[in-house]
Amino acid sequence: MSERRRDPAKKSWAEPWKVKMVEPARQLAPELLRERIRDAGYNTFLLRSEDVYIDLLTDSGASAMSDYQWAGLMLGDEAYAGSRNFYHLEANVQKFYGYTYVVPTHQGRGAEHLVSKVYIKKGDFVPGNMYFTTTRIHQELAGGTFVDVIVDEASDPQSLHPFKGNVDLQKLEDLLKKKGQNCIPYVSLAATVNMAGGQPVSMQNAREIRALCDRYGVPVLLDATRAVENAYFIQQRETGYGEKKVADILREFCSYTDGAWMSAKKDSLVNIGGWLALNDAEKFGEAQNLVVVYEGLHTYGGLAGRDMEAMARGIEESVEEDHIRARVGQVEYLGQKLLGWDVPIVLPVGGHAVFLDAKRFYPHIPQERFPAQTLAAEIYREAGVRTMERGILSAGRDPQTGLNRFPGLELVRAALPRRVYTQAHMDVATEAIEEVHWNRARARGLRMVYEPKYLRFFQARFEPV
Ligand SMILES: *Cc1c(COP(=O)(O)O)cnc(C)c1O
Repeated sequence: MSERRRDPAKKSWAEPWKVKMVEPARQLAPELLRERIRDAGYNTFLLRSEDVYIDLLTDSGASAMSDYQWAGLMLGDEAYAGSRNFYHLEANVQKFYGYTYVVPTHQGRGAEHLVSKVYIKKGDFVPGNMYFTTTRIHQELAGGTFVDVIVDEASDPQSLHPFKGNVDLQKLEDLLKKKGQNCIPYVSLAATVNMAGGQPVSMQNAREIRALCDRYGVPVLLDATRAVENAYFIQQRETGYGEKKVADILREFCSYTDGAWMSAKKDSLVNIGGWLALNDAEKFGEAQNLVVVYEGLHTYGGLAGRDMEAMARGIEESVEEDHIRARVGQVEYLGQKLLGWDVPIVLPVGGHAVFLDAKRFYPHIPQERFPAQTLAAEIYREAGVRTMERGILSAGRDPQTGLNRFPGLELVRAALPRRVYTQAHMDVATEAIEEVHWNRARARGLRMVYEPKYLRFFQARFEPV
């Protein structure tokens, strides 16, 4: 008998779907890539999508819908009021996330706007496990100040802590004591934590936050944008959850919170949509009233009926075991491949993206010369692969002092849209990043020549120094 070449214990995984429709993607010639990134002011947000070969800018709204979701679009009930798709969405948010009252919004920040307006008064402090750009700006516009209470390991790209998204309970309790619960409208809990590298929060931490907040009478509100990915990490890493279903873990996690806002453009596999869900009838009443001012009637919240149907169906698919395993598995594949080539990345690899550590990638570029922005521009120029900056540019300026914030992490995010790219795309992207890494000593950094007032990373322009 001949020797067996394959190790039967090591089984390959493949995506639990097959492709039904394709969208062309082309790679521009090197001189065109150089020209396009220069014309875009070295900001990947300002590139045209058709000039991008592999788009890892974001996992937001860029996922591929299933035939079940597309079929749902045809069942859109476009009545102004009381669309049946709203009731389907409401039922699925109640069933899978467990909250009582639901209002749709056009996307996540629409819900953040409402929740901030309803809960925050001027002078309040909002503790949370690391800021998120749109979340924090709505908290600030409502008169609050965000206070980061995430564990210290979150800012260490090399720490292997399995739950780097956890809240540091001591930091949270110190703040509750120092400011008093009357100035703390809620704890802003995100799971997973996008800006920390897609890092999860443990079930135990959620339980402890709940217990602490109960003692002070402070609600806990969840940014549920990637809570399904968070539930998958709990299943993989936390004792006692290995045999539980992701859907059940998600329900339990949400049960420790009083409400949530959602960008359904992430976990829920849709191109547009979001919601706000609360258990408090009075607060919900206010939110339901405000949604009419800012989004649309409370049974559509700025969405078409068909969009709500796609979202309701996307929620069902998002918690399927083989879907979530393949989704996070692809991110892990990209991360491991980069690690194998000694490219510095944030560890452990997160749920939705691989984060390149620009401080270690370009140790010779000072933070005020935007090392992560430089790296994102170089990766595009190399192969038409689009990523985004998550460092000093995204952190923005302190609203009080007007000075640049200098975040601990200076990262480039390569985010994976769900069900869109193949393993071969991952291989091409890794080779491009490896090439840029090989030539790293040549990079010089960038100077900002145009800086918008709000969320500057979206529209800022640069020149090479
Ligand atoms: C994307 C995102 C949001 C905002 O949602 P939008 O749909 O982009 O408005 C909020 N929180 C987190 C963690 C996100 O990733």
